[in-house]
Amino acid sequence: MHGDGLVILGATGSIGENTLAVVAENPGRFPVVALTARSDDERLFAQCMEHRPAFAVLVEEEAAARLAARVAQAGLPTRVLAGEAALTEVVELPEVGRVMAAIVGAAGLLPTLAAARAGRQVLLANKESLVMAGHLLIEAVREGGGELVPIDSEHNAIFQCLPNGNGGAQGVRRLILTASGGPFLETPLERLATVTPDEACAHPNWRMGRKISVDSATMMNKGLEIIEACWLFDMPPERVDVMIHPQSIVHSMVEYEDGSVLAELGAPDMRTPIAHALGWPERIRSGAPWLDLVAAAPLDFRVADERRFPCLRLAREAARAGGTHPAILNAANEEAVGAFLDGALGFTDIARVVGRVLDSLPAEPVISLEQVCGVDAAARDEARTLIAGLEGARA
Ligand code: NAD
Ligand code: MG
Repeated sequence: MHGDGLVILGATGSIGENTLAVVAENPGRFPVVALTARSDDERLFAQCMEHRPAFAVLVEEEAAARLAARVAQAGLPTRVLAGEAALTEVVELPEVGRVMAAIVGAAGLLPTLAAARAGRQVLLANKESLVMAGHLLIEAVREGGGELVPIDSEHNAIFQCLPNGNGGAQGVRRLILTASGGPFLETPLERLATVTPDEACAHPNWRMGRKISVDSATMMNKGLEIIEACWLFDMPPERVDVMIHPQSIVHSMVEYEDGSVLAELGAPDMRTPIAHALGWPERIRSGAPWLDLVAAAPLDFRVADERRFPCLRLAREAARAGGTHPAILNAANEEAVGAFLDGALGFTDIARVVGRVLDSLPAEPVISLEQVCGVDAAARDEARTLIAGLEGARA
């Protein structure tokens, strides 16, 4: 048996901070056992002061040493651990019942899998782990006897619109993921090649980490979400559609055989899906503003243009190909987005790099974690070579 304590993987990020805000909104209800981050010792120290967890983990050793010194000086009850392995250690502690998986990117895979294997309730924000290794993660949840509750606003909305959360897709015709279209929905196509990282990260409705903000601008985020939805709700990619909805009020929809469409609406605020997942099956306060539909109206819906958003098409193709192609898509995208954020790659080259890496590596059935990690590394190598070539051509 395990307790009901909470671990937040990626506590210092946008989802991590929103999770702590919901925890603070419900005093005494969600005991925080451990908070983790990569290197931001300053923010993690402030969080330790407020939430007094038993453990704090920083992956970077020097940052962990700085945090340990400050924690000792402040007389906090928190034990500071360093290194990647400690992420897995804390999710396996007996007092832990639920784990918020909110690390960004492939780095979230191992601790998320460990939480699933240990039978914890996994609140899943880290969509990349499902995209890379959906088969393995779903199997780990089943074998561990825990459950997966989606945090991504679209998937959380669908979870709420299905009769039994993720286990009740009977009579469902299709899932409709809504997408804001990001900051470049109306930008002239010929300008896209020269947009800057700051422009790409200026999302009209959501404030998020930089990687997912760029993914929203390319709509790779929606592509990853198609794959995420297929795993979470056991749906083939042909039955997961995408619709542009610039106001981000309808967070997604389920269309049933009888013509009914159920949608979940709310202000665009991640505290709502986080509170839904933390409280589920009960409802708890989130601190998010109430939805004012009159002020939000009119609500618009339109088709997503794959010429403007080629990443959406690439993700769809990877979803259809299945096997290791989604892992390749994800790895190539992480490398390309990293290079774009560093100023080493143009915005429209992100899709170019991802497309070429997918063309160069075959889709194989997923058989093991080692295989997925090997494929991830190979795709990153290939992407880096292509990025260096494109950069040379630009210079
Ligand atoms: P962020 O960049 O704001 O935060 C990332 C967190 O992960 C930080 O705490 C950071 O320290 C930690 N981290 C980064 N690299 C790490 C590594 N190598 N090892 C260990 N920890 C590491 O990101 P975010 O916007 O909070 O997004 C987190 C995840 O949630 C992503 O998978 C994203 O797709 C998903 N998500 C985010 C939002 C949102 O509104 N921000 C919405 C839906 C889904
Ligand atoms: Mg989303």
